[in-house]
Amino acid sequence: MKQLRQRTKPSGIATEQLINELQSFGVRLVDPKMAGVSRRGGAGPSDHTPFTIDGATVMVPVHNAPAFESPYLVEKPDAQGKSRITRDGVVLSEISFPLRPRFYERATAEGIPYSHIATLHGRDVLATTVLQRCIRYASRTKTCQFCAIGQSLAAGRTIERKTPAQLAEVAKAAVELDDVKHMVMTTGTPPGNDRGAAILAESAAAVKAAVDLPIQGQCEPPDDGTWFARMKEAGIDALGMHLEAVTPQVRQRIMPGKAQVSVERYFEAFAAAVPVFGRGQVSTYILAGLGDTAKDVLAICERLVLIGVYPFVVPFVPIAGTPLESHPTPPPAFMHDILSSLAAMLREAGLKSTDIKAGCGKCGACSALSTYERRIQA
Ligand code: SF4
Repeated sequence: MKQLRQRTKPSGIATEQLINELQSFGVRLVDPKMAGVSRRGGAGPSDHTPFTIDGATVMVPVHNAPAFESPYLVEKPDAQGKSRITRDGVVLSEISFPLRPRFYERATAEGIPYSHIATLHGRDVLATTVLQRCIRYASRTKTCQFCAIGQSLAAGRTIERKTPAQLAEVAKAAVELDDVKHMVMTTGTPPGNDRGAAILAESAAAVKAAVDLPIQGQCEPPDDGTWFARMKEAGIDALGMHLEAVTPQVRQRIMPGKAQVSVERYFEAFAAAVPVFGRGQVSTYILAGLGDTAKDVLAICERLVLIGVYPFVVPFVPIAGTPLESHPTPPPAFMHDILSSLAAMLREAGLKSTDIKAGCGKCGACSALSTYERRIQA
């Protein structure tokens, strides 16, 4: 085993830094059929495939422009999904791919494949976009430029509105067949002041009635703060309200529609949500590499951590077909600067990804942050 380690890690590169490299550069797949569990389009990060490296399951780009030129090559996996990553012919690490989830083989009575209702993210997360339309996506002048929420719908890989009953049916199957451990429910922002809280609450209630599965809801801050208690009562265990970018100028440029909801409005909502969901159970997603400096990102993280909000900072990954498809990914050293400082900040504040009941911060696959946390805790 020792010999194997020495052979497979000749560069001596730490796992968290290798993850930064892989998420920046992406990987080339020797066998393109391996992209079986990857996803294209949809809300949030896309064009990735999950694999496990040194115990950490990570989402790594395979379908976007940087990945086609990546110096990192993934060998054809064996029947158990085991493979290796190489660079310039040198083996850097062994990895393993998740097997195709069993619930993907099923369909509803009306013939809708379960995979069009929810998908497996990372290793054990069931993820769905309850409403695959968004008021911010209607026009290119308003759309968040990184988002591909309409692409998977246009390609017929998902349905526009997942009903509570459909979500409950799929969640139950995913727990029973594939042992999923938590669920992420995101949504495009519908018209109306609740900003999606209402459909998340009714969906969570239906899932919880069918199966005991921790759920994270993700939406914009609802105008009425009483929605936090209503979401919690309905069965949402953790809440994500995603800033995406942190300075007004970058938010205005990258997400002109969503930037109308100011950073300060988000902070008001965080302050109201933390007492309801608990310290560390409210989180935000921050895309690093869109123009905010490391100092900008860390300054916001400091404010967030202080009020008990977990800042899940991920490297921006361009998605094919979006206005930002040619935008560069952040250099690995930039991510290292942010994530190493953020992990120290989290430790100081006693916030841990492993304490989050459900959601992206708990899954951690889109960032090396939890690997930095593990390293610093050790
Ligand atoms: S971190 Fe969130 S978006 Fe990324 S794979 Fe995990 S659940 Fe999906």
